[in-house]
Amino acid sequence: MNYIVFDLEWNQAPAGRARPNPKLPFEILEIGAVKLNSRFKTVGEFHETIKPLVYREMNKQTQKIVHLDMNELKNSKTFSPAARHFLEWCGEEPMFVTWGPSDLFELQRNLDYYKIRYDFPKPLLYYDLQKLYSLALMDGKKRPALQEAVEALEIRETKPFHGAFEDAWYTAEVMKKLNLRPVLEYKSVDYYRLPETREEEVYLHFKTYDKYVSVPFDSKEDALNDKTVTQIRCPKCGLPVIHRMKWFASTTGNMYYALISCPIHGNVKGKIRIRKTRGDRIFIVKTIKPATDKDVEDLKARKEAVREKRHKRLEKERAARRRKKAAAKATAYSSKES
Ligand SMILES: [Zn+2]
Repeated sequence: MNYIVFDLEWNQAPAGRARPNPKLPFEILEIGAVKLNSRFKTVGEFHETIKPLVYREMNKQTQKIVHLDMNELKNSKTFSPAARHFLEWCGEEPMFVTWGPSDLFELQRNLDYYKIRYDFPKPLLYYDLQKLYSLALMDGKKRPALQEAVEALEIRETKPFHGAFEDAWYTAEVMKKLNLRPVLEYKSVDYYRLPETREEEVYLHFKTYDKYVSVPFDSKEDALNDKTVTQIRCPKCGLPVIHRMKWFASTTGNMYYALISCPIHGNVKGKIRIRKTRGDRIFIVKTIKPATDKDVEDLKARKEAVREKRHKRLEKERAARRRKKAAAKATAYSSKES
């Protein structure tokens, strides 16, 4: 098995003028990659620039970041041959590694746009090194820039950033330098190709939490009425548990939380994140993990904040209704008098 550490640079519709193509909002202009063997030794390098066919003008914001020149790109291969070359170079069963979750997503969207066949497994598991770095050296939630990680690990900055090959190279260097053993189990799930049947739904069991990815649903309500979505069991023993707090929505409404208690293993918290599919449907990512006393307090505070917000909203609505009623009454009186 080889690790394919890769990075992409892409362009988007120039602001104000051409309308973005909804099937290809981001057009890949450069692919860079480093191949590492199972002992993290470099065994290959890949670099291709790509001649654009959809957006022939560089978006101004993009131009500020990437160092690619549209005139030079005209001499490059188009995406189809470049991508085929890349897939062939990756070899059998590549384990993809990227900095953040978006490169693998956009790679597949571009492959689909040009109808290029690829047979990635489903679910497609990969390493988001930005997440692993955070789990290993930060709080697990922060998502630092690649350059920040390079500086923190004292990797020599011999190349500029924001080139596909250079960024892939730096990502590979971070991978080599990081002590990955304790966090290597934390694979990420690609959300580009979602489960299409209940059998394809994803259940992952990690040391510190469980993760579930659902099929798409038409609405949030449909998802939350689904027993598989709302079910929580103790991640340690799998036993059904006592609900201490039923699922409640966050103030923004795109997260739901619950608190349960296992008679043997104590408190467990559940989190449901509502995510949008590429179409206009939604899917669910649910995580279940043991809850500390502080987690329990945090959840209580969160629930209280939601209750307060709802209370305030109802209060406002009631006041508005009262004002409307009073105004209607006043008009009624005045029309009687006249
Ligand atoms: Zn238990």
